[in-house]
Amino acid sequence: MSSFTIGKIPPKSLPGSTNSLATLSTDIMMNAIDTSLPPQSAKAAQGAFGHAVAGLFGDLGLSLDGHLGSDLGVFSPIDGSELTRLKMHQPADMDAMVANAQTAFLAWKQVPGPHRGELVRRYGQLVREHKETLSRLLAIENGKILTEARGEVQEVIDICEYAVGLSRQLFGLTIASERAEHRLTEYWHPLGPLGLISAFNFPAAVWAWGTTVALVCGDSAIWKPSEKTPLTALAFGKLLQKAAADYEFAPDHLVQIAIGGAECGGIIADHPGVAIVSATGSVRMGQDVGVRVQRRFGRAVLELGGNNAAIVAPSADVGLALRGTVFAATGTCGQRCTSLRRLIVHESIRADFVKRLIATVDSLRIGSPLVDDTHVGPLIDKAAFDAMQRALEQARSEGGIVHGGERIDVEGAADAYYVRPAIVEMPGQSDIVREETFAPILYVLSYTGLDEAIALQNGVPQGLSSCIFTNDVREAERFQSATGSDCGIVNVNIGTSGAEIGGAFGGEKVTGGGRVSGSDSWKNYMRRVTATVNYSTSLPLAQGVKFDLDID
Ligand code: NAD
Repeated sequence: MSSFTIGKIPPKSLPGSTNSLATLSTDIMMNAIDTSLPPQSAKAAQGAFGHAVAGLFGDLGLSLDGHLGSDLGVFSPIDGSELTRLKMHQPADMDAMVANAQTAFLAWKQVPGPHRGELVRRYGQLVREHKETLSRLLAIENGKILTEARGEVQEVIDICEYAVGLSRQLFGLTIASERAEHRLTEYWHPLGPLGLISAFNFPAAVWAWGTTVALVCGDSAIWKPSEKTPLTALAFGKLLQKAAADYEFAPDHLVQIAIGGAECGGIIADHPGVAIVSATGSVRMGQDVGVRVQRRFGRAVLELGGNNAAIVAPSADVGLALRGTVFAATGTCGQRCTSLRRLIVHESIRADFVKRLIATVDSLRIGSPLVDDTHVGPLIDKAAFDAMQRALEQARSEGGIVHGGERIDVEGAADAYYVRPAIVEMPGQSDIVREETFAPILYVLSYTGLDEAIALQNGVPQGLSSCIFTNDVREAERFQSATGSDCGIVNVNIGTSGAEIGGAFGGEKVTGGGRVSGSDSWKNYMRRVTATVNYSTSLPLAQGVKFDLDID
């Protein structure tokens, strides 16, 4: 629900201007924590973020006791400083968690759906009360700009409301039976513990998509968040634990949080006690997790990488297309699964469109995500920056002309990775264009006919999100038809990112085919029963099979 307007764009900020960390420290002091903090050197600012996080947990009435340790360093991408260190869960802890989740499931599945919904309603209320605190925590740990952080927290609130409604609508089917005086129905029962593995870039929303829906469906849940954003997970998870502790129908251990990395996620993937594994992250992760869950015939719901394209047709409203493409390509610093990575623009308008695109991207304000008018915050870490630079190098070697993409200095943030989003004019859809690089790089391709544009759009391994900017109804319909885009998300005159929660979210091909939330995705969290009741006095067999017996 975040809004991001690129209208009149004032000059970009420079190091030492309003986006310096000096101002940032003041901002934290004014808004989030104890106002007696010392000011403003880079060192003080680093300490300030750790201090701010402690203050935000205090505001939430939560404590990190029991989680502090030495295994896992947690850093803020805003300045690269360490926020805290946490203990990681070990294999024996994971076994105990799964056993707890199974016990909780046995109790929870007996609670009627609408009463399960009541827990989610109370949780949504808690998140609503703490929206600003949670948004700041999320922005500090993940680095997305505050308006997007607020949008993500709003998405958690929205999905709670959605799940509450769903708790009264877990409906089945009545099917016409071929036999007289028989009733044929399908209905749904809770399936079992959910293990949810999530990525760093939506550290709260993806969890809420899966967990709130699974809870109303009668399942217990274990959340294994990204090791890059465990604090946001502990805050959101502990608020739900708090709501559950206060709710008479919620069993102990209904929702648990596992802190750890890939190894911890692997235990969830392998464990026969975890009925559903919902995994959001890279294709590489999904290829591993999907196979491991399938090997034991668990249910896997995979939400993996995208390589999303926009077609800009000659009839497009150019202003609209520019706003849509710039937000989709640069929002969240290009770190959304739905970020726009390929622009396929008609040859006849390419030169002018690309010129305006480069000028617009050049005027974006890049800097601290906690400063109100920033457009683009930092990359998550050095590895993301290095991957971006490698991709740009490869693009050059494949004939690309790169605009932007360089590192931006932000005062007091020498250990952080701020970048100017890159626009890369490519001669064709080369190897690097077909890969997802999780950074703000937009490759520009051109086309002359719609068939060619659709072939380019579909000519990558991923199939998550796509869009077309056009005022031609034939083109718009063709793009959405079976001979159009092959993606799970197909938009007209809207960019590729920023989906609403009501529709099923996910994509095809190496994106994994899963739908975590929205529409009828709740069926992923339940088991289907097909039931036939015979209320006659005879026993007709289906398909007219005869099996006569002499029995009185
Ligand atoms: P990642 O794959 O590195 O990590 C995601 C999660 O998987 C983390 O919790 C990590 O600890 C865990 N993990 C990694 N390898 C694992 C393994 N072998 N077994 C079990 N668990 C494992 O991804 P990331 O860098 O955090 O996020 C970026 C990626 O996520 C991008 O590719 C992006 O497109 C994708 N993503 C997809 C969606 C979607 O809905 N399709 C949403 C958000 C992010």
